[in-house]
Amino acid sequence: MDEADVEGDLVTTLYTEEQIQERLASLAADIERDYEGQDLLMVGVLRGAVMVMADLARHFRRHVEMDWMAISSYGSGTKSSGVVRILKDLDTDITNRHVLVVEDIIDTGLTLSWLVSNLSSRGPASVHICTLLRKPEAQRMSVDVRYVGYDIPNEFVVGYGLDYAERYRNLRSIATLAPHVYS
Ligand code: IMP
Repeated sequence: MDEADVEGDLVTTLYTEEQIQERLASLAADIERDYEGQDLLMVGVLRGAVMVMADLARHFRRHVEMDWMAISSYGSGTKSSGVVRILKDLDTDITNRHVLVVEDIIDTGLTLSWLVSNLSSRGPASVHICTLLRKPEAQRMSVDVRYVGYDIPNEFVVGYGLDYAERYRNLRSIATLAPHVYS
């Protein structure tokens, strides 16, 4: 879906399809360099990270394994509370594995810090995080995010996997949503 297909719903384009691909290619090059000679298991967090994972993985010029987790965080409305339930666990045993968690966006970072401590308790060789987008609040969290695509302002964005009420995930670009859509 292109922006023209939902004209009027979007206010500002943050990143075009081309910009996203360029940034992912550069992140993939950094990751390849850092994990040279090591097996890598990328863990995507459903559902938002589907697009990032698919495109990031295809920028690699090496083998990479992919697995998925689905988690739900209990919170009031739009804010997550850090209380998390696993809806779908990994199919892979991560003991002694190098794990890279792939995320679409980190807002408060509460869900992610729970996930990292959960994965770390399973005896992996390492656990690091890659996110396409990061909001300001997340920069204050204790969890170290090794790979960040873009630091963005504290605005609600949709597209490229990110939804509002399960819509706009299939938009090619990332854009801010017009207030009339959610009010
Ligand atoms: P947190 O980092 O635990 O606060 O929650 C991150 C999750 O909140 C993401 O995985 C998204 O599902 C959702 N989220 C946060 N900000 C946005 C946004 O701007 N657009 C769409 N979803 C968002």
